[in-house]
Amino acid sequence: MTQTTERSVPKADAETPTFKLFIAGEWVESVGGQTFESVNPADRRDVIGRFQAGTKADTAMAIKAAEMALPRWKATPAPKRGEILYAFAELMARNKERLSRAMTREMGKVIAEARGDVQEGIDIAYLMAGEGRRMFGDTVPSELSDKWAMSIRQPIGIAGIITPWNFPIAIPCWKMMPALVTGNTVVFKPASDTPHCATLLVELMAEAGFPPGVVNLVTGGGAEVGDARVESPDVPVISFTGHSSTGKSIAERAAKRLKRVSLELGGKNGVVVLADADLDLATDGILWSAFGTTGQRCTACSRVIVEKPVVEPLLERLERRAKGLRLGSGLDEAVDVGPLINPAAVEKVGSYIEIGQVEGELVLGGHPATDGELEHGNFFEPTIFANVMPMDRIGQEEIFGPVLSIIPVDDFDAAITALNQTRYGLSASIFTRDVNRAFRAMRDFETGIVYVNAGTTGAETHLPFGGWKETGNGHREAGHAALDSYTEWKSIYVDFSGRLQRAQIDNQAASG
Ligand code: NDP
Repeated sequence: MTQTTERSVPKADAETPTFKLFIAGEWVESVGGQTFESVNPADRRDVIGRFQAGTKADTAMAIKAAEMALPRWKATPAPKRGEILYAFAELMARNKERLSRAMTREMGKVIAEARGDVQEGIDIAYLMAGEGRRMFGDTVPSELSDKWAMSIRQPIGIAGIITPWNFPIAIPCWKMMPALVTGNTVVFKPASDTPHCATLLVELMAEAGFPPGVVNLVTGGGAEVGDARVESPDVPVISFTGHSSTGKSIAERAAKRLKRVSLELGGKNGVVVLADADLDLATDGILWSAFGTTGQRCTACSRVIVEKPVVEPLLERLERRAKGLRLGSGLDEAVDVGPLINPAAVEKVGSYIEIGQVEGELVLGGHPATDGELEHGNFFEPTIFANVMPMDRIGQEEIFGPVLSIIPVDDFDAAITALNQTRYGLSASIFTRDVNRAFRAMRDFETGIVYVNAGTTGAETHLPFGGWKETGNGHREAGHAALDSYTEWKSIYVDFSGRLQRAQIDNQAASG
């Protein structure tokens, strides 16, 4: 059953729909009685809906519901759990266009990218549905005769899922699908900028047949709702994607309770362009990585490290092509670049323009875009700085907007050094026709993801996704690696010899 309708035009206040929390299989109001609004970043006059400002008490109820549902869900055979994930994937596929349009309206990314975001959710749901029949452990020979040795995965319990707004369908699916197929129950808190996407997603999960209490949704502010699950002794695993500062604070608090915490945090992703590169291809890759999703991807490219002989021709291409990018509502198929998420983001990007003008040379953009209809949204011009040094602030700090820094270097070795000179380590790419240098980059880049002759974005769901250094804490989303965040390993030994056999003792010849 759906409780929502898509709207794409500004409407009267009385028409604004109100959405609810999803706890124990029921849509309910917050006990606090407060709501907040979600608005279209391309046109702030367009209010999408009012959402429950959940409280600690709501979160406690959701955790209780997840606790009650856990024994049955965990006892459900994994292939049967997988079938529900499969049904959910099918439902998402059938609703792909509706979800994509709702996403573009709520967070601004252009419709083609929103379709990609939903597709990523579908892909991970199918992948994890299959895990219901795989979920491999090891069966290995024992060192003793007539003894069997094997390992299995088991669920941890209740997973607290906290997600950002920039991939409002894909990221919740990356987290919830592995958590659920492995037998955990879930309490989900989406970003306050994208509660509608989260609501649509959970509606489909309910329709797919996840039993009551297995998936619970509590919208509301991070400090209130997010914090409550981090502090709760009943939530043993937290999976968080968002800012490094929020992630660090979650990790500190969760550490006091020895919780499993999976963190996917900030990035400052670089593209290396060598003198032998196909510059037209590099231009395509850089533009897509830097200005796609208006630079608001964790894998967005914001630094381009270029061998000096090709700085000028590359810059000329980038400038010419970036000038032609069309800004506007992402629901218009002809638009290339949507808005930033909110006015605070416009202000933050603006503050980095001031810094960049001191550090480098502004060659394109640098202002909020307010012409015509754009004045109602949070638009910012695609911006390029040249002559940036690797350690400059605009070359180091995550701006999360359409701002690109060009960093000239003398040679390949200097390029590798500059690429690795950041505290983050999510994604990197190299454009070159030299296979030896491509392989050196694959080996020497200190990032969780490396692309050769492609931009910094475009992860596929069956490979591990995540970053080195301050981008995370060693866990991975997607692929088989995602299962590690939500499962405990159990090693099992079965001795069918009928006698006591002591490992490391009875099978060792006496020495001396
Ligand atoms: P935030 O850290 O601001 O928020 C992320 C989530 O955490 C939101 O749901 C937020 O709620 C919640 N939150 C805020 N404060 C707390 C708290 N004290 N306790 C618990 N939860 C809290 O990040 P953004 O949403 O702005 O996302 C952008 C960031 O995400 C960027 O840094 C980006 O690089 C990173 N990111 C990383 C990815 C990766 O895989 N490495 C992928 C995608 C994004 P509320 O919205 O209510 O404040």
